Amino acid sequence: MHKTALVLFSGGQDSTTCLAWALARYERVETVAFDYRQRHAIELQARLNVQREVKAQFPQWAHKMGQDHLLDLAVLGQVSETSLTRDTAFAMEASGLPNTFVPGRNLLFLTLAAALAYRRGLEVLVTGVCETDFSGYPDCRDDTMKAMQLALSLGMDKRFLIETPLMWIDKAATWALAESLGGKALVRLIVEHTHTCYLGERTQRHAWGFGCGNCPACALRARGWERYAAV
Ligand code: ZN
Repeated sequence: MHKTALVLFSGGQDSTTCLAWALARYERVETVAFDYRQRHAIELQARLNVQREVKAQFPQWAHKMGQDHLLDLAVLGQVSETSLTRDTAFAMEASGLPNTFVPGRNLLFLTLAAALAYRRGLEVLVTGVCETDFSGYPDCRDDTMKAMQLALSLGMDKRFLIETPLMWIDKAATWALAESLGGKALVRLIVEHTHTCYLGERTQRHAWGFGCGNCPACALRARGWERYAAV
């Protein structure tokens, strides 16, 4: 029985749901994020706000929340041309992948998370990757995760488990999962404090939270909310 976990926690809807999922299961949960000069430091602020609110509103979870880690990954900006790290607009590439795709990003994240988990004595890596509302990111696939679990466990000679609670559910089901874990209070917290918008927009408030309402991340979040709210 696993007791400790490290959640890859960006401060968005998905990773906040994963954080709640881990807090409901494990005795000690630490969090990690990667600063790769995202165009919007607003995400990094959102994750601090989410952590503060989870601690304040969920005393049954607060005592399980351990250290938070922020790793500097500025190097990603040196190897990758992407609308997340450079000042270019969102677009689809000829490859069929959006230009928000950073080749190997999740592989790098998981490798660093595993190294951190090794040092901190944490057994499970929890990540919000998902094949269902698939943006076409090949490093979010279930097979990729299984291969990484094997590679990391062999390469560090320690059994890591990679848990992906969102892998087979869509955005509507992700809202429903949050509700089942923390009730309407958790849903409200996610609406109010998480950040998903690619443009870093936080002046427009919608039923599903803050965002421009038009970028692919906002569109996905809004569609999921509409289907969740309609049930
Ligand atoms: Zn947006």
